Amino acid sequence: MNKFLLEIITPEKSFYRGEVESINIPSIGGSCTIEAGHQPMVFATEPGTLRITADGASREAFMSEGFIEVRPDETLVFSQAVEWPEDINERRAAEAKERAEEQLRRNRSAAEYRLNRLALQRAFARLRVKHHNYLSGN
Ligand code: ATP
Repeated sequence: MNKFLLEIITPEKSFYRGEVESINIPSIGGSCTIEAGHQPMVFATEPGTLRITADGASREAFMSEGFIEVRPDETLVFSQAVEWPEDINERRAAEAKERAEEQLRRNRSAAEYRLNRLALQRAFARLRVKHHNYLSGN
């Protein structure tokens, strides 16, 4: 399978840089797979599971809100936070979930509602990535 260069950047670091076969990324319209030769484009991503396939093996990571730029020569992913399963603090994510649910139960402005929905989405996505990769032994 043809490869392409992928770089994933957070405000703190370059999370990943290397040749990959494909990535599957959570976007607003559902998850999207990028392979070599994909049409150049930019789109927004949602908090969820990012799957990277390189050298025939796939790994999953949590990815927060961000965007992706597919270029002819490389693909760039920018996100506020990206974490491997082993770096996800389950307790912190569970507490963030409780907080977001509590805030959503209160009647807030539309802007606060959107922020709390996103916080809840991040917490669920972190817990999903942690559990899925724990159960499958990765
Ligand atoms: P919290 O309310 O717990 O801060 P959050 O979803 O608002 O959660 P982010 O804004 O996505 O947090 O991330 C802020 C920083 O904290 C990032 O560096 C991110 O990697 C880290 N972080 C947040 N939650 C966790 C977690 N459960 N495990 C590990 N790192 C986390």
